[in-house]
Amino acid sequence: MSASTENRRLEYLEAMGIQAWSLRAPPAAVPEAETSAAAVPAIPAEEAEALPGVAVPVAELRRRPDVSRLDWDELQAQVAGCTLCELHSSRTQTVFGVGNRAADWLVIGEAPGKDEDQQGEPFVGRAGQLLNAMLQAIGLQREQVYIANILKCRPPNNRDPKPEEVVCCEPYLLRQIALIKPGIILAVGRISAQNLLQTDTPIGKLRGRVHRFRDTGIPLVATYHPAYLLRSPVEKRKAWQDLQLAVRTLRESAS
Ligand code: URA
Repeated sequence: MSASTENRRLEYLEAMGIQAWSLRAPPAAVPEAETSAAAVPAIPAEEAEALPGVAVPVAELRRRPDVSRLDWDELQAQVAGCTLCELHSSRTQTVFGVGNRAADWLVIGEAPGKDEDQQGEPFVGRAGQLLNAMLQAIGLQREQVYIANILKCRPPNNRDPKPEEVVCCEPYLLRQIALIKPGIILAVGRISAQNLLQTDTPIGKLRGRVHRFRDTGIPLVATYHPAYLLRSPVEKRKAWQDLQLAVRTLRESAS
């Protein structure tokens, strides 16, 4: 890391209210063989109906399109025209995802907010600024990672996603994961972590350890949502620990 980059990292850490610590080595790339999730299967209807704490509407499950063979352009076009759930009628535009399509890091948030709905890009509001700072703190530019959400459309008034909306949108995210083949997934916030891990365990219990993303084997670290950290800055220290855990996990899986 150059001196100016290191200075910027220290500034970002300070902005996060975190004491600066140095990484012992830069994050390493994970060999493709270890991370290949050629196809991330959608949950079969019967299994999804049995998910703990998740009331999955069967009708939505049966309507889900098979996007498992689409390339990036086809997938993006399908998302842009999606009318599977009621959110299509209130959105300004879909928010597909942004970043490096060959990234080691996949950051998954909850759903677009007002700014994201207007700009068509995830995490561009205040929470996005903090997410950028969090990434900078571990030596990553926003452009180096891929950023997506559980939902591609904004829920009105930023309410929580409904189960049927998550179910409709899931194949798109699963296809993105299969195309990217990330070395690590960082799930930011309760909604992201609980849906990806198919659990209703509170985020405070999901963070701080390494999970696996379903049957892909991709390591997943959950942490607090930057919007929550803006409201509860005292928790930034734990988010910093989670980021370091993710860095270590990616590095170890590469060695
Ligand atoms: N919060 C999210 O979870 N995602 C965004 O894209 C913006 C805010």
